[in-house]
Amino acid sequence: MIRDPETLNQLLDSVARFVRERLVPAEQEVAETDEIPPAIVQEMRELGLFGMTIPERFGGLELTMEEECRVLFELCQTAPAFRSIIGTTVGIGSQGILMDGTPEQQAEWLPRLATGEVIASFALTEPEAGSDAASLRTTARLEGDHYIVNGSKRYITNAPHAGMFTLMARTNPADKGAGGVSAFIVDAKSPGISFGKYDVKMGQRGAHTCDVIFDNVRVPAANLIGLKEGQGFKTAMKVLEKGRIHIAAVSVGVARRVLRDALQYAVQRKQFGQPIAEFQLVQALLADSQAELYAAECMVIDAARRRDEGLNVATEASCCKMFATEMVGRVADRAVQILGGAGYMAEYGIERFYRDVRLFRLYEGTTQIQQIIIARNMVREAMR
Ligand SMILES: Cc1cc2nc3c(=O)[nH]c(=O)nc-3n(C[C@H](O)[C@H](O)[C@H](O)COP(=O)(O)OP(=O)(O)OC[C@H]3O[C@@H](n4cnc5c(N)ncnc54)[C@H](O)[C@@H]3O)c2cc1C
Repeated sequence: MIRDPETLNQLLDSVARFVRERLVPAEQEVAETDEIPPAIVQEMRELGLFGMTIPERFGGLELTMEEECRVLFELCQTAPAFRSIIGTTVGIGSQGILMDGTPEQQAEWLPRLATGEVIASFALTEPEAGSDAASLRTTARLEGDHYIVNGSKRYITNAPHAGMFTLMARTNPADKGAGGVSAFIVDAKSPGISFGKYDVKMGQRGAHTCDVIFDNVRVPAANLIGLKEGQGFKTAMKVLEKGRIHIAAVSVGVARRVLRDALQYAVQRKQFGQPIAEFQLVQALLADSQAELYAAECMVIDAARRRDEGLNVATEASCCKMFATEMVGRVADRAVQILGGAGYMAEYGIERFYRDVRLFRLYEGTTQIQQIIIARNMVREAMR
């Protein structure tokens, strides 16, 4: 749903200009230093990007899902690490509070998240609980008016920069499954929280993950999201469902950029006395990429519109995440092929995208987990 096309177009134009003039020229520096320049993060704050999904009454832009996807199509035509710094705040880090938090919890945290003053992280995964997130072992034991949290979380995006965590922990040790899990808002400065070293990753330099260790961390009982125990896994799944459409939109944005670069190269590069773009075998690589990109774009917009209409999009969100993240992997692979040896060289940037996009098939539910969700929903529907 697009509320006001003129306002949205102005935002899309500003984001496209920001990407062209500020982010693309900084890509190499980010890849070399593994840091996003603070001035760029500040400009993202000023553009309102940290508040994209937060309601206007808390100082955000309150974008609908379709509007958010259209912004991501523009914002992600550059190194995905730039999106990552806002991604957890607009997505998985803040949405739990928005969806299930009490009015007091929302009023306390959302305004600071919307401005980007506080960066949010989402802490679900553990060393022994990845795809099987419901088996998580981090515990939160009620003692007076505080919960005492113990455990460790793994691969947490933006953890080294986070001001708060949306943390999933087990409040009922007798229930080893999803029903024993609760969600909390945890101030990252709480005593007892420590961080592992930055993970050394395949790609997305500039986006940081690390372990987060909770050692007898006291979390006020008032920070239990929705003030209800046992609801945390449901909150996490709702957050991830929206996140899947978000990551699919990110994949579309990156694919647009990679395909544009590959096309430009194919038109300029000559072999056998003619531009390689005129060879039909190269054209097949371009055409397959264009068709798949278009399909992913249509899927994302359709799923976003359905979600904006209030429909259940559990299956569609997983279809989008699975198809779009696999699509961008194939597009990046073909782009390397189109560039030939240059595709393998750091100087041309395509090999960086090839490594960067590999992540999209892994986090927020691997491709296999999306397949399981889609098929389970299909079978459940058929057996009703
Ligand atoms: C860079 C990065 C950032 C991340 N950021 C965050 C974050 O901010 N917050 C957070 O909580 N987590 C985060 N994660 C964790 C991420 O969500 C998990 O890595 C992911 O869910 C997969 O879990 P796993 O790594 O334990 O793999 P595993 O669950 O061990 O899976 C290994 C393989 O087995 C397959 N598999 C597992 N179960 C099944 C099954 N039932 N059927 C078929 N195949 C199966 C998987 O598809 C995969 O191919 C991040 C991960 C990375 C790499």
